[in-house]
Amino acid sequence: MRRVTILGATGSIGQNTLDLIRRAPKGHYQVVALTGGRNIAQLAADAREFGAALAVTAHDDLLAPLRAALAGSRVEAAAGEAALIDAAQRPADWTMSAIVGVAGLAPGLAALENGGTLALANKESLVTAGPLMMAQARATGARILPVDSEHSAIFQALMGEDITAARRVIITASGGAFRDWPLAQMQTATVAQASAHPNWEMGQRITIDSASMFNKALEVIEAKEFFGFSPDQIEVVVHPQSIVHALVGFCDGGLMAHVGPPDMRHAIGYALNWPERRALPVEAIDLPTIGRLDFTAPDPARYPALPLAWQVMDAGGLTGAVFNAAKERALDHFIAGDVGFMAMADLVKDALDGLAGHPDITTSEITLERVRAVDHLTRQHIDTQAGRRAG
Ligand code: NAD
Ligand code: MG
Repeated sequence: MRRVTILGATGSIGQNTLDLIRRAPKGHYQVVALTGGRNIAQLAADAREFGAALAVTAHDDLLAPLRAALAGSRVEAAAGEAALIDAAQRPADWTMSAIVGVAGLAPGLAALENGGTLALANKESLVTAGPLMMAQARATGARILPVDSEHSAIFQALMGEDITAARRVIITASGGAFRDWPLAQMQTATVAQASAHPNWEMGQRITIDSASMFNKALEVIEAKEFFGFSPDQIEVVVHPQSIVHALVGFCDGGLMAHVGPPDMRHAIGYALNWPERRALPVEAIDLPTIGRLDFTAPDPARYPALPLAWQVMDAGGLTGAVFNAAKERALDHFIAGDVGFMAMADLVKDALDGLAGHPDITTSEITLERVRAVDHLTRQHIDTQAGRRAG
């Protein structure tokens, strides 16, 4: 019996994780805690179905509705940031970190205190505080397993290999919603258009980040932080079929590719079953039906967010926290209709340049408090700049 907690259970990754647990033989998993946001009905229904000990909403004002929705069940209800940390700290063997944004950092760090396994979908934790996450895992003996499909692919390609023989890593990108659009038209892209991914079914924010390739930029930094690759060893190619998720190149010139259907249950299931491999409810790939695999270099004019990843990695310190906060806030402004789609990269570049050299950012000592301070500072910077553009 494995004790399992899911942080961000009501989201796309969380629901896919519960889908896999639902299909497992009875008694295989015991759900400790589930957390969610505003979707109280989903959170309560899942907590009841899986017999969770605890259900937490991130929002204090939703405690009463959550209690009402759980009335008559044995599930304990709680709300707010401290309750999220408490949920993450409850003893569990396997915790899924699937909150979206930097909000996932503190609960993920808290889960590592248990020394169990942290399945990490929340790439923002590694982008904002990679060295802190990795040090925490080393200190407690916890294991972090990647859930991002590209990083799961790299992890699998490295199985049985000596990582010092790896020379390069190639991460694929679908190209997102606008890969076939003329560049000029991308300026006018709406939120609805950016929220429709050609290949993957995901939460709205990561879907828009795929269209802009901010998501790929985060993943490049994630690859550096998780595996220790240097910035010049990491490459990105556009691969519209989205079945090759990543490739690792070795010193003998060989490339090991991971090929799988664009279904997150593959990467989630790999982390859930690791170190074993078990059958998963994902479609078998039929290569003749796919017919061909295309790979092209990403055009920086179409995807100005992507090269920013190297600027962030070269600057070091807490620049990842600046990048992530700037991206999150620019995305808020795009979703609110304050700024255009292509303006997001301008805003983020402006924050990176404007805040470069700030003593809170160049520090090599990364703590949760410092990430929070830099996050706050950056959001203010973006709000001011977005206000100027809108006004
Ligand atoms: P989502 O928007 O579908 O779900 C997010 C979850 O986080 C929900 O449960 C929501 O209630 C909760 N949440 C949102 N804001 C919160 C806050 N401030 N505090 C606490 N909880 C909060 O997102 P998703 O697509 O499932 O993505 C989750 C994470 O996984 C992200 O970091 C994303 O980059 C990563 N990821 C997702 C996919 C995918 O296929 N969806 C693939 C790779 C990586
Ligand atoms: Mg990914």
